[in-house]
Amino acid sequence: GSFQSMRSEFPLIGIFGGTFDPIHYGHLRVAEEIAETISLRELRFVPAGVPRLRCAPAASLQHRAAIVRIAIRGNSRFVLDEREVRRHGVSYSVESLRELRREMRERAILCFVIGADAFMKLAEWHSWRELFGLCHFIIVARPGYALASNLPQELEEECAQRWVSSADSLKYTSSGLVFIAPTTLLDISATTIRAHIAAGKSVRYLMPDEALDYIAANHLYSGEG
Ligand code: ATP
Ligand code: MG
Repeated sequence: GSFQSMRSEFPLIGIFGGTFDPIHYGHLRVAEEIAETISLRELRFVPAGVPRLRCAPAASLQHRAAIVRIAIRGNSRFVLDEREVRRHGVSYSVESLRELRREMRERAILCFVIGADAFMKLAEWHSWRELFGLCHFIIVARPGYALASNLPQELEEECAQRWVSSADSLKYTSSGLVFIAPTTLLDISATTIRAHIAAGKSVRYLMPDEALDYIAANHLYSGEG
């Protein structure tokens, strides 16, 4: 119908929030595959300030954002979004999504990319139900985290009518759908990377060389401050 063809004119914009402490190939490869699978016009990496639900990041937000900038350089679809760097204090994804919605003036469809481990905890987020009115959710599997089968009850109920099995569906509704994107399973985490660096072990090939150079030059994650 005309509604469908109209809607499909709006570009899909991906939003990838995270602590990115530091960003690694798990994030980057998944981002690349999603951008391709759901035809994203752009994918915005949004490093989070002080997360409310986890312990303080090891590196400052400025350093974490700088590493993201280096890691995504050369990918024309990837963008560093520093809105949570400029905002002070606690980071709420819902605030960033409200802002993005306003900036895009309804002329884009926002797709929030989230790992299965993080999605499981969605119901702990600030104003989490409002998110379904602002964006779609693109869930990516993560080794060690079984999804769907054991979502907390209130989250499962909220999602019950929202699952879609085709990326195409995302173009025809402005928000509120949940799609599990097929992506390569990469068992890489920032926690492991930080532990390796602190122990003086190599983290080469877990993240881009240029990002590692920045980490070394700034003595990050070495345990010496
Ligand atoms: P940490 O170990 O410090 O929690 P992390 O590797 O989980 O770091 P985050 O910054 O916490 O990275 O993750 C940001 C987002 O990316 C989350 O939605 C998370 O689930 C997802 N993510 C992180 N690593 C992977 C991976 N290897 N595969 C798929 N998704 C991932
Ligand atoms: Mg994590």
